[in-house]
Amino acid sequence: MIQIEALLAFTDNYLWLLQDNQLHQCAVVDPGDAEPVLRWLADHPDWTLTDILVTHHHPDHIGGVTALKQATGARVMGPALETIPACDIALEDNQRIEVLGLEWQILHVPGHTLGHIAYFHTDDEFPPVLLCGDTLFAAGCGRLFEGTPAQMYHSLSRLAALPDATQVYCTHEYTLSNLRFACAVEPDNQALTERYAHVSQLREHNRISLPSTIGLEKSTNPFLRSDCPAVRQAATARSGQNDLSGVAVFTAIRSWKDQF
Ligand SMILES: [Zn+2]
Ligand SMILES: [Zn+2]
Repeated sequence: MIQIEALLAFTDNYLWLLQDNQLHQCAVVDPGDAEPVLRWLADHPDWTLTDILVTHHHPDHIGGVTALKQATGARVMGPALETIPACDIALEDNQRIEVLGLEWQILHVPGHTLGHIAYFHTDDEFPPVLLCGDTLFAAGCGRLFEGTPAQMYHSLSRLAALPDATQVYCTHEYTLSNLRFACAVEPDNQALTERYAHVSQLREHNRISLPSTIGLEKSTNPFLRSDCPAVRQAATARSGQNDLSGVAVFTAIRSWKDQF
């Protein structure tokens, strides 16, 4: 099994470093900056960077790709529908790839950007792993820069259908501010109140709040809870409309968050 370590970049980006401790091979997800990865490799001279996995084309996710490829010769993979620098393998929905000896399924999850993909691995022994970039965040979701609310709603529904035990590795440390908003949507959600207290403590000590799990997100993330009566009610009050569809609930909550 691989180990996953967070390398910090900019103010709140995590570059996930997937590590095979037996072969001393690693892969990195969304290196917006090459520097933290090059520093790690310099500190671990017997390790090889084999792959660079990209979820979408925003600069804070691709900024270090070219420099890293030049320095290491690592294979670059990214979404087929977006322009990714130095890309060797353009990935499409449901395609399967092998990275660090594990099989990963590609999920096309448009909304934040139109070509955004996530990487999902599952086997019989360990909890599944989801690398989801800026689509699903802990207690939140990415802004809709390119896609429609309906696209994002369907993308998030697809991720929510993964096993509850799935470990969720998103790119940004936005959890605490996302939870503040989630509590405004659902002030009476006990699981949410507990999570807010827990993450507040972690962040006070400058500790990482990730990974999350799909199960935890389903119980505390308003963007995965359009079916929940309290979330529907909040969306109804916010939009002034009744009998909202799941997409309409999501749309109302997302636009509320944009102004929160
Ligand atoms: Zn982004
Ligand atoms: Zn980002």
